[in-house]
Amino acid sequence: MAYYILCIIIWPIILFVDLFLKIKRFLVKKNSIRILNYHSIGSHIKDKSFIYASVSLKVFSAQMKFLYDNNFNIIDLDDFLKIKKNKQQIPPKAIILTFDDGYANNYINAFPIISKYSFKAVISVITEYIDKNIPFPWLNQSVLEDEDDKNLKLPLSMKQLKTMNDYGLSIASHTRSHRSLSQLDKQDVMKEILESKKNLEDILGKKVKYFTYPYGSWGDYDKEDKRIVESAGYEAALSTKVGANNIKSDIYELRRIPIYNIDGLSKFKRKVNGAYDFTGIFQYISFKLKKIIKR
Ligand SMILES: [Zn+2]
Repeated sequence: MAYYILCIIIWPIILFVDLFLKIKRFLVKKNSIRILNYHSIGSHIKDKSFIYASVSLKVFSAQMKFLYDNNFNIIDLDDFLKIKKNKQQIPPKAIILTFDDGYANNYINAFPIISKYSFKAVISVITEYIDKNIPFPWLNQSVLEDEDDKNLKLPLSMKQLKTMNDYGLSIASHTRSHRSLSQLDKQDVMKEILESKKNLEDILGKKVKYFTYPYGSWGDYDKEDKRIVESAGYEAALSTKVGANNIKSDIYELRRIPIYNIDGLSKFKRKVNGAYDFTGIFQYISFKLKKIIKR
């Protein structure tokens, strides 16, 4: 009798665990690369609207130390494109670090840590703001945890940008003005994509190979915008659609994993190991639902 009761309890548990592991194996794909998406790195900005675009220096340092101590392979887009072109295997635990919008704090806070560990990174800048010695307009009213760190609201200077470029980080275009491409007519889309490239190339004295869509999620760009990015001479483009990438991924809308201050170290570990790769499905469903509600 006890044997049968035990079977009734244990069998469903075994079946559940087995199913869970099968689903996990299906969702967390091997031979994939995760592109992490950061924005501001520094004194945490306490503005609610900015909660998803600012990671404190303490949290960022701990996350980078974790990647270094645990032998993650921090490669860059050049490496990934080579792997893809030559149909090679993606190295295990492959990660690309990306920073959007061009905050001076990427240079002041993130760059020393990136160079300490000999990591690589992609810095995407909005060209209109380079060298403007005033805070980004969307941060004017924001409160910093450490109010002495006012320079953390500033855009990158030309000198800071050149130093990171000379070191070997990739500098990508994030358009001229950071407007969603879906809000612009195609002539303005072309201007945003082409002029920002030329502007950056004049500053850096080398080809700018990568583009990052402003906002970059479902509905922020279309097939035609992707085509314009490609014909402008960019070799790859980053979106904010959530997910991991493999050698079959569309190089003109690479997916990324957003990293938030609230992730700390524990959620970060799960994210870099693939536990959040599948959440792009919910991002897509929520976009579709919003569209239906708007109708
Ligand atoms: Zn942006």
